[in-house]
Amino acid sequence: MSDTERQREAVVQALENVTARLEEEKTHLTELDSAIGDADHGTNMTRGFSGANEKVKDMDEAEPAELVKTIGVTLVSEVGGASGPLYGGSIMSASQEFADEGITAETSVAFAEAYLEKVQDRGGAEVGAKTMVDALTPAVHTYKKSIETDDLAPLEALAKAVDAAERGVEFTTPIRAKKGRASYLGWRSVGHQDPGATSTLFIVEELLATAQTYLNGEVEATAEAEEAPEEMPDEVSEGEGE
Ligand code: ADP
Ligand code: MG
Repeated sequence: MSDTERQREAVVQALENVTARLEEEKTHLTELDSAIGDADHGTNMTRGFSGANEKVKDMDEAEPAELVKTIGVTLVSEVGGASGPLYGGSIMSASQEFADEGITAETSVAFAEAYLEKVQDRGGAEVGAKTMVDALTPAVHTYKKSIETDDLAPLEALAKAVDAAERGVEFTTPIRAKKGRASYLGWRSVGHQDPGATSTLFIVEELLATAQTYLNGEVEATAEAEEAPEEMPDEVSEGEGE
């Protein structure tokens, strides 16, 4: 099997794993969204990812970048809500990073960084606004540092990214929402975990699970993460005086 074929298979498998996980967590995500939003995040995400699964089924000859782009395009049109353009549009743009060399450790870092940048361009949320950015930022920074500075294998780097995303999700609970629907609630959003940060964690976890199959490793998603990323603000002082 050629590298491209293997990568194509890995992308399709990742998409299947993510879709199955979101299906499993549909009620959970919708419950989180009912507390601080409009109770549709679980259905939005499963609709979008199921649609993407259907789309890639007929793309036997596609390059990995094209497949990833198609996933993004489908999410934009099928997810709806705030999260559709954020997830979909950002995946779509970031897919370019795979265009020249396919999926490698290096291009996966470039993809992750481009994805985060697009989410922030589109949504305007910084860390601490109680959004998906709170899970995504530490995950992406940890992944990049693990590969580029600590010279870890992609699998170990992903395991650390999962751990970082997990702590990012926990960080969303005690803070007040400043972006998205939950921000309309003001201080009443405090004490609730953000749905989009949670779905981001599930996706990163499934990327790790897929990588474990494709990179033949056995690293558990429990690796200790590095100390908290610097851009993680202190949630108490952050909220004061606004
Ligand atoms: P909607 O809020 O339109 O119903 P969803 O329920 O599908 O859309 O998604 C809600 C999630 O989207 C939130 O939990 C949050 O993580 C994310 N989100 C909303 N607005 C933004 C934003 N401006 N930047 C980043 N993420 C956002
Ligand atoms: Mg919603």
